[in-house]
Amino acid sequence: MVKETITFHTNTPEETESVGERIGQVLESGSVVALIGELGAGKTILTRGIARGLGVPDLVHSPTFTLIHEHQGRLPVYHFDLYRIGSTQELEDLGAETYFYGDGVCIVEWAERAASVLPPDHVEIRISGNDDRRTLEIHAYGPVSRRIIERVKAG
Ligand code: ADP
Ligand code: MG
Repeated sequence: MVKETITFHTNTPEETESVGERIGQVLESGSVVALIGELGAGKTILTRGIARGLGVPDLVHSPTFTLIHEHQGRLPVYHFDLYRIGSTQELEDLGAETYFYGDGVCIVEWAERAASVLPPDHVEIRISGNDDRRTLEIHAYGPVSRRIIERVKAG
């Protein structure tokens, strides 16, 4: 399959948040966004921007002890933080697949820990960098996520 990709470079947390906002504006019902990057990479900051782009009024926070945070924007937004996940079984017990294949938008931090249960067609964002510079590589893995990336490029 030909992968659709787009790369952004940011120099501040605010810039990363704006990239997120731009992505959030073009997501659709059923979109799944998989975030991959080390602790402190900027996954939560990016999630905050995506949520803002989806019209979520409340602030998205860093991990707490819950794995799923629910927000309401123009679509329901389910923010997963799998930092403390023990096993894939734990995800299945939470009914993660109901969210992944539901009508809302799922944003998943530490998505590599959910690899076996993520829908094949998802938007993957890899964040890397150091100091204040970050590289965000966005990949599509199917027709829906390709459409989203096309819209991000157009926007
Ligand atoms: P994660 O959720 O990946 O663990 P966070 O989003 O909670 O990471 O934190 C990212 C940290 O990196 C914040 O302290 C933020 O201020 C800092 N930072 C510095 N430069 C950037 C940048 N360009 N984009 C995003 N975060 C940045
Ligand atoms: Mg985080």
